[in-house]
Amino acid sequence: TDEARIALDTLTGRASNLVNPTLRIGVTGLSRAGKTVFISALVHNLLHGGRLPMFEAQKSGRITRAFLEEQPDDAVPRFQYEDHIRALIDERVWPDSTRAISELRLTVEYESASGWNRMFSRGRLSIDIVDYPGEWLLDLPLLGKSYAEFSRDVFELAAFPVRAKLSEEWRARAATVDPNADADEMTARSLAESFTAYLKAGKDDSRALSTLPPGRFLMPGDLEGSPALTFAPLPDLSDAKPRGGSLHAMMARRYEAYKSHVVKPFFREHVTRLDRQIVLVDAMQAMNAGAEAVADLERALTEILQCFRQGRGNLLTGLVSRRIDRILIAATKADHIHHESHDRLQAIVRRIADRAIARADFSGAMVDVVAMAAVRATREGTVGEGSDALPVIMGTPLAGETIDGERFDGKTETAIFPGDLPAKPDSIFQDPESNSHPIRFVRFRPPRLERNKAGVTLSLPHIRLDRALQFLLGDQLA
Ligand code: GDP
Repeated sequence: TDEARIALDTLTGRASNLVNPTLRIGVTGLSRAGKTVFISALVHNLLHGGRLPMFEAQKSGRITRAFLEEQPDDAVPRFQYEDHIRALIDERVWPDSTRAISELRLTVEYESASGWNRMFSRGRLSIDIVDYPGEWLLDLPLLGKSYAEFSRDVFELAAFPVRAKLSEEWRARAATVDPNADADEMTARSLAESFTAYLKAGKDDSRALSTLPPGRFLMPGDLEGSPALTFAPLPDLSDAKPRGGSLHAMMARRYEAYKSHVVKPFFREHVTRLDRQIVLVDAMQAMNAGAEAVADLERALTEILQCFRQGRGNLLTGLVSRRIDRILIAATKADHIHHESHDRLQAIVRRIADRAIARADFSGAMVDVVAMAAVRATREGTVGEGSDALPVIMGTPLAGETIDGERFDGKTETAIFPGDLPAKPDSIFQDPESNSHPIRFVRFRPPRLERNKAGVTLSLPHIRLDRALQFLLGDQLA
């Protein structure tokens, strides 16, 4: 059974861990949250001795060597670190975002902090970084639902006012089919395409609606076009067993195949093996979109935390990790606001996380929150003098970005007054009108790296990446 297999994996994992200590860190978050940029910056800073004052092992000079090694899992694509760094540093463009799971092994050799341990051995820790789309995590609830239940839930949600318009075309299309008619591949395909278009529209919507499963419909990985993805919910289904050979039977079978061949193996082979997890969230985008989007972010975070909840509460699957002991919820891209607002951003994310923790009835792992920028694309400054001085951020906006009607060419550095985040975190949960001063937001190019006197390129600048590292790795390098 799955349970037995996981127990065995855990045991063999522990045994080999004594010989070669490893730590598997999962990096997730919805698409565009900043996973690729985060992993690239983390690895670059460790390989190149970046400035990480809050990361104790690095600060005290105990890390003697850090290097990339071959990853242990041959069947998982490698995280293309070198390509991403070339894009970031040489071309100053953002790297290609995460589309599927990938993995990278970084090994750190260090001197133990205690003199006693230092006498016996040098420490060595292999860190397996596993990058995967947050969309895939949101599939977990499907494991507890039959096809008929799934269909009913999806139609109910699609008729809600915020989604009614987006789902209109697909619902109209679905209303023309008879679930009891003979199965037909073209009908299945056109329904699946129309349903996928609705899910995608929800994602692209400016109201930043939360992501709905099935996750592979949005992030197919290598499954694009396969039968396990060519299904869609059908309207007005009863719980009665479908007629053999009917469209209903075909769709139900594919839904079950999706669960057993896609969702379960993903959780079993990847999520259950993680030791630690960082969840990246784009809190500023949600705040800018208003209270409804903030509520939606909270809901997505609740669902993600539910995947990592331990113990009795999670009978849903028997597949859930019981190893994860630390989870970091990180709001990325803090370089879009002045440092005076960083603590405010962190306080806001803490409120959202606390509410999600309460709703998910979460227990088990230690959860912390940080507001950070994996790559800092801006500098700070002030414009004006005396009491008129305004704190600004400076950077090179991407070509084509606009603010106040001005259009940027991707070459010119510009000062922007981003605005302030609310001092009272709770105000972001209030009515949509309350956010009358959204953050002024443009996307910047990655920074130009300075060289030191020896002509060596300095490491990538960041905001509070060192705090994230300390939480995720610090105790393992003691
Ligand atoms: P993924 O889909 O989670 O892999 O997201 P990416 O890591 O590709 O990030 C998506 C986009 O967010 C990037 O192309 C950047 O425009 C932006 N971004 C991510 N991290 C940062 C950051 O630390 N600072 C800034 N300024 N932008 C970031």
